[in-house]
Amino acid sequence: MPVSDSVDLESETDSDTAAEAENEESPDGLPINELFYSLQGEGTLAGVPSVFVRTSGCNLRCWFCDSYHTSWEPTHAWLDLEEILAEIESHDADHVVLTGGEPLIHEESAALLEALDDRGYHTTVETNGTIYRDAPIDLASVSPKLESSTPTPDRDPKGEGEWEERHERDRIDMDSLTRLVKSYDFQLKFVVTDAEDMPEILDLLADLRDAADVPVSDDDVLLMPEGATRERLAETRTKVADLAMEYGFRYTPRLHVDLWNDAPET
Ligand code: SF4
Repeated sequence: MPVSDSVDLESETDSDTAAEAENEESPDGLPINELFYSLQGEGTLAGVPSVFVRTSGCNLRCWFCDSYHTSWEPTHAWLDLEEILAEIESHDADHVVLTGGEPLIHEESAALLEALDDRGYHTTVETNGTIYRDAPIDLASVSPKLESSTPTPDRDPKGEGEWEERHERDRIDMDSLTRLVKSYDFQLKFVVTDAEDMPEILDLLADLRDAADVPVSDDDVLLMPEGATRERLAETRTKVADLAMEYGFRYTPRLHVDLWNDAPET
């Protein structure tokens, strides 16, 4: 049962939602944008039936964000942990994906992950890699945001350009990235538009390999084509597949887009 079908969503219009969402948190609740059952569409677990818990609020503003209503115009219902767990348990799935937005901006995400671990779920956390939290995470799916994600005035979906400087300042946090890689099984998932993204990926990997004292192999690196619609993916995926072969990284599809295009709760 999708949350958005069952609960009146509150709408936040102020753009500074990361800090606000943290401040207004109820003691044992999370701002939930969607909660639904689907197939994991991306990464090494693509195709695995999973329950998705999508929190609202993000500390970044990628121009291409495919969960616009968690970042640029966030909406959510506040659910306490028991409500979230009951909804998860109503589905016959062993895997839970905590995603956003940026789920790790919320302190209570760690409590949810503890409760899921107690119940024997496999947990994936999809994060932009700028925040570290100590929690039982089975797979940290870390997607560092490249310069090509920055909402320059010509690409800002709101046309205001107010997030360009802040996004550019905050999009890479090497300390958090290093701690995530050292602490958890991980995959590094880069959203790639074209070959111009590759030098930055190589530089970032070199810095991360210097900083982390655990191996970061090319198999841990996934290139994912930019595009939240079938039409856009048709323009990017072959280029990105070719880049994966050229550089020896993995390619990840966006299975949910292939199957359901940009429908919500997929
Ligand atoms: S980090 Fe993720 S959720 Fe946040 S704006 Fe970028 S794509 Fe959207």
